[in-house]
Amino acid sequence: MLQELRIINPATEELEAVVPVTTPAEVDEAVRRAATAQEKWAALPPGDRARLLRRFAGVVEENSEALARLELAEAGHPLGNARWEANNVVDLLHYAAGGVERLTGSQIPVAGGLNITVQEPLGVVAVIAPWNFPMPIAAWGTAPALAAGNAVLLKPAETTPLTALRLAGYALEAGLPEGLFQVLPGEGAVTGDALVEHPGVAKVVFTGSTATGRGIAAKCAARTKRLTLELGGKSPNIVFADADLERAAAAAPGSFLDNTGQDCCARSRILVQRSVYDRFMELLEPAVKAFVAGDPADPATRMGPLISAAQRERVRSYVSEDAPAAIRGEAPKGKGFWYPATVLEGRPDDRTAVEEIFGPVAVAIPFEDEADAVRLANATDYGLSGSIWTRDVGRALRVSGAVAAGNLSVNSHSSVRYWTPFGGYKQSGLGRELGPGALAAFTETKNIFISTEEQQ
Ligand code: NAD
Repeated sequence: MLQELRIINPATEELEAVVPVTTPAEVDEAVRRAATAQEKWAALPPGDRARLLRRFAGVVEENSEALARLELAEAGHPLGNARWEANNVVDLLHYAAGGVERLTGSQIPVAGGLNITVQEPLGVVAVIAPWNFPMPIAAWGTAPALAAGNAVLLKPAETTPLTALRLAGYALEAGLPEGLFQVLPGEGAVTGDALVEHPGVAKVVFTGSTATGRGIAAKCAARTKRLTLELGGKSPNIVFADADLERAAAAAPGSFLDNTGQDCCARSRILVQRSVYDRFMELLEPAVKAFVAGDPADPATRMGPLISAAQRERVRSYVSEDAPAAIRGEAPKGKGFWYPATVLEGRPDDRTAVEEIFGPVAVAIPFEDEADAVRLANATDYGLSGSIWTRDVGRALRVSGAVAAGNLSVNSHSSVRYWTPFGGYKQSGLGRELGPGALAAFTETKNIFISTEEQQ
């Protein structure tokens, strides 16, 4: 077991910080404190909880530049992306705060009495976050769980605990009760596992790899513990011959290179109708090459390094930087976990076309017609996202209906908005986050029938 986490700047390989880990005994203590805080929190009038969450959003907003710089240092995200991420936390907190007074339950007509439902908090919720979007993904779980009256124990990924720790400090500064939102850095198999196994944790929200998620699901099943899984993806970008090819090609690089491809929604399979395949690849090449990789602090930078040496080795295990590629961009040499933007031409059953690489690599594959496009799009165990480029509205709707994925976009690559639901089909996940149902996912529904019969 590690005694501490050494946080390395992925762009420079310099040591940024050393963070102590949380032992299983400390997890146990944290759960106890959280349970005590949660009881008080749930007993507060809804308006007071909402006000405190808005104040928390305010403190995060005041410090958003500092958070963005910290994200840049620990995750290597370009400054523009990191700023967006910090402000996304602000938005998530405001959105959740707006839901506190709207957890209204329902009244259902019945004979002989009154039937009401109430939404009760679950208790203590564990949020296990990944390193690819440390702040937003932590807040996707944390903000609605708090708003619904729960306490949250957040376990950030081993490589990216710094912004999470800072957020916990801001929560206290805003006046949230001590113990209500705690950050427990540590290893997944130790600190994370202690949370998953703890009988005092009512729900686990996990984002990460499908393999780890399945293991966590099995442990939760043994206790009938509530669970949300946001897992991997191998999403298609389907370009039909009738699409605005210039726009489709200009937008494609961002869809698999943003966050250096370390994005569960990355459109890493580019499916192009054969009749326009060559033209599309011609247009794609300059767009990929213009997606500049470099110093994350430079405003011109679109792509930073990979998160770690281990992640770069993982990407290299699929394709090395000097293997033949249809398109290859430039990446800095020397210090930092750099990897160039890469587009391969491949076949649907190639390993690179089937498995999640989680790096700046896409595979381009031609298809014949609409049926072929749908068949290829669905030829994966995953089902998280996807894009459809066409000018034909009917086709856009038919293909959106036929692709088995939770988040589709037409003539766009947008996937995640905090006010719309997000989650995966098939091996990409279980349950949904964000959107109008976000708070309800952190409640139990209680049904109460009150008889109107005269009492003797
Ligand atoms: P991971 O799934 O192992 O880790 C994600 C989080 O889970 C981290 O906080 C980790 O500490 C924790 N964790 C790990 N094992 C655990 C366990 N047994 N019990 C409880 N918590 C545990 O992912 P990784 O090893 O960081 O990355 C490996 C691959 O996973 C990546 O290359 C990528 O393909 C995929 N990934 C996907 C996402 C996503 O957003 N879907 C995010 C990160 C990684």
